[in-house]
Amino acid sequence: MIYIHIPFCKQKCSYCNFHFSTSLNFKDDMLSAMKKEIFLRKDELQNKNLQSLYFGGGTPSILSPDEINSLIDEVLKYFSFSSDIEITLEANPDDLDKNFLRELSKSPVNRLSIGTQSFFDEDLKLMNRAHNASEAESSIKRAQDFGFENLSIDLIYGSPTSNMEIWKENLQKTITLEVPHISSYALTVEPKTALENWISKGKISSPKEEEQNKEFYYLSDFLKDNGFQHYEVSNFAKPDFYSRHNSSYWKYKEYLGIGPSAHSYNGFDVRSWNVANNQQYIKKLNSNVLAKEEEVLSQEEQFNEMIMIGLRTIWGVDLESLNNKFSDRILEHFQREIKPKINDEVLVIENNHLKIPEKHWFMADGIASDLFIV
Ligand code: SF4
Repeated sequence: MIYIHIPFCKQKCSYCNFHFSTSLNFKDDMLSAMKKEIFLRKDELQNKNLQSLYFGGGTPSILSPDEINSLIDEVLKYFSFSSDIEITLEANPDDLDKNFLRELSKSPVNRLSIGTQSFFDEDLKLMNRAHNASEAESSIKRAQDFGFENLSIDLIYGSPTSNMEIWKENLQKTITLEVPHISSYALTVEPKTALENWISKGKISSPKEEEQNKEFYYLSDFLKDNGFQHYEVSNFAKPDFYSRHNSSYWKYKEYLGIGPSAHSYNGFDVRSWNVANNQQYIKKLNSNVLAKEEEVLSQEEQFNEMIMIGLRTIWGVDLESLNNKFSDRILEHFQREIKPKINDEVLVIENNHLKIPEKHWFMADGIASDLFIV
């Protein structure tokens, strides 16, 4: 699978600490540099048929459909791909006008992930999103009218502007719109964001963990009652609408990340990441040099990663793979740490897979990190 990071946004959302620029001055140079990177890395993922290509960001829908197509062409020119390859574009509601969708519907993009976040203006204003509540709804309907059935939307819960009643209405609206995939996250306060600044100055209150906990479990119960499967802590899908791309991450598959700040993984022990700086990225690629650094993961780091990723999913951690992969010393640590948690039913073993029962998923990261080797 290939991930392409588009490092541009119209404006900065108040909670976001991803890598992007709000200036489009160097957009053409960036696209050329990305195409160069695709070419220079064409021998990676050898002998693999690409199952998915994912445009994330930043805001991929800030590009025109022609620009998106030119990147897809470049990938498909150099990599072999499956005939039913999933090609996802993250898109913001304010970009999904008729012209954009008409052109995009003629492209190979066959899945949209829309950054809806909320159907309420108060939430969207606090988040400093570029769209309003009415665009949140109309963009989904328009995308469906143009034939995009494989749709995901992002929703954020636990905002200080929200409460359980508003959250219930958000979810009801989602069901009414017949969206088959939902990614939903608690609002978190990241360092150096406007949100952190407002909270530190007392302008708004912090998100309350207790509220977020209740809203998470309401979300899970409500969506399951409406035919969704809760397949990862933050992800819900109708049958046949799991994200192929993200599922591959969660199954430790190899991936290639193109663009500034994008990460890559060889499926075994090497992780690399591109520089998170647009100018430096462009400059390096202009000189035919990759803008990446890499590290070889120690056994301990591989173990921690396997635990963290696997325990967040419906599949859990495959104990046979774990036993085959790690040394006796690591396995002894593992057995020692899981025992009390199995006694407390915070962890269970089913079909030789270690899992967190769904009723504890809100605490999944904490439970997983208790098992880490530090
Ligand atoms: S659109 Fe996405 S990447 Fe851009 S600032 Fe907002 S949350 Fe961050």
